[in-house]
Amino acid sequence: MTDVRTQSEVKDITRIERIGAHSHIRGLGLNDELEAKPVSQGMVGQTAARKAMGIILKIIQHGKIAGRGVLIAGPPGTGKTAIAMGLAMSLGDETPFTYLSGSEIFSLEMSKTEALTQAFRKSIGIRIKEETDLIEAEVVEIQIDRPASGEGIKMGKLTLKSTDMESTFELGQKMIDALTKEKIESGDVITIDKATGKITRLGRSFARSHDFDAMGPNARFVQCPTGDITKRKEVVHTVSLHEIDVINSRSQGFLALFAGDTGEIKQEVREQINTKVAGWREEGKAEIVPGVLFIDEVHMLDIECFSFLNRALEDDLSPVLLVATNRGITTIRGTEFQSPHGMPVDLLDRLLIITTDKYSDLELEKILQIRCEEEDVDIDENALKLLVKIGTKTDSLRYAIQIIMSAHLVCQKRKGTQVTIDDVKRSYMLFIDTKRSVDFLEEYKNEFMFHHIDNTGDDDS
Ligand code: ATP
Repeated sequence: MTDVRTQSEVKDITRIERIGAHSHIRGLGLNDELEAKPVSQGMVGQTAARKAMGIILKIIQHGKIAGRGVLIAGPPGTGKTAIAMGLAMSLGDETPFTYLSGSEIFSLEMSKTEALTQAFRKSIGIRIKEETDLIEAEVVEIQIDRPASGEGIKMGKLTLKSTDMESTFELGQKMIDALTKEKIESGDVITIDKATGKITRLGRSFARSHDFDAMGPNARFVQCPTGDITKRKEVVHTVSLHEIDVINSRSQGFLALFAGDTGEIKQEVREQINTKVAGWREEGKAEIVPGVLFIDEVHMLDIECFSFLNRALEDDLSPVLLVATNRGITTIRGTEFQSPHGMPVDLLDRLLIITTDKYSDLELEKILQIRCEEEDVDIDENALKLLVKIGTKTDSLRYAIQIIMSAHLVCQKRKGTQVTIDDVKRSYMLFIDTKRSVDFLEEYKNEFMFHHIDNTGDDDS
């Protein structure tokens, strides 16, 4: 049980942060019948792909798809990543979702297979149930010593009484702030959760909790007599398999998670953890929560990575593998063979394929309008229409999205409040899109350094 307690101290699973480009996506925008509304939760169009992803969402929620994979294929800028983000949002915080770009695998610090193994294990959640003791105590005294200048670190002491025994603890800054904010005073009755260290004030309409660990090294309730325990309650924590690996492979325990760089983990540690988790499952103490591993730009992986994926999908503890690519028939990296999406056919064969299509002008307009709102940019109707035209002409929704911010800066520079057609035009002239850049290169190719004509047709960028 000691190990479980250590894990309980681990904070929530690290999930993908809001990625700027997709921060407007709040879900897949489906109704209860899994029909995609034309515009909902920040998602526009791609109704067939969203509906298909909705079915995947349900299958994941029922825990039935472990060991399976899904490929989202479509031209650049057609919302493949956006749909994956929509899935992550719809799954909610309890289901692990790991985002990885194909090229991130090639790091100097760890081998490709280690990076992939860690990504797989980050995508598997373990929901651990355990009983915890709740201690009830009365606040006898809170003493806070404010520094003379009014600034700097505050010190303090907290005296608690439970069943006639008083204990005094040194307080850290964080705990002082929390006690002050919650207006906890002498005479208040509070409860302390021994496993999680949460402190809760009783007698309020709703409970608010604070991290008891922040009180400092002396604040340990092991000093309280056992008679203080007033209630037993069941707590549930979800941690990822990778986090359990890290905690058990480093001498500093769960603190290793804060160090960022977790390094390579020994295979024997992983095997021990798998055995331990299997034991917890048998005892009914733990459940597996298969999450999602999303690998964007999957064509960047090479043949070794692909065979690793093939094998890893067969493992008992496997998440759902979601991959995306904008490539058609191209070379599989590390081989001379061409294949659809640059992926070996045996792996493709395991995947359910969802496709995305180009947007209509109306859909482009709606996406650009949503992005303007997201970036807090007031734009007039004609300027928005011009942006749509730019998106269509350059064949790049992404370029049109980028123009929003630069047009906004041009507008601010002239002290305007609403982006006009002229601001968009200026921005379009200042920053060229790929098509114009290629034309420019064609025209002036001999004046660039290292210019050579590549006749190999090799496409591995
Ligand atoms: P690539 O193949 O180049 O990686 P992609 O298909 O993954 O492209 P995204 O990155 O998802 O394209 O889309 C580009 C931008 O447009 C992002 O900011 C994305 O959030 C937005 N976007 C794309 N499709 C939609 C959509 N259907 N609804 C709302 N926003 C979208």
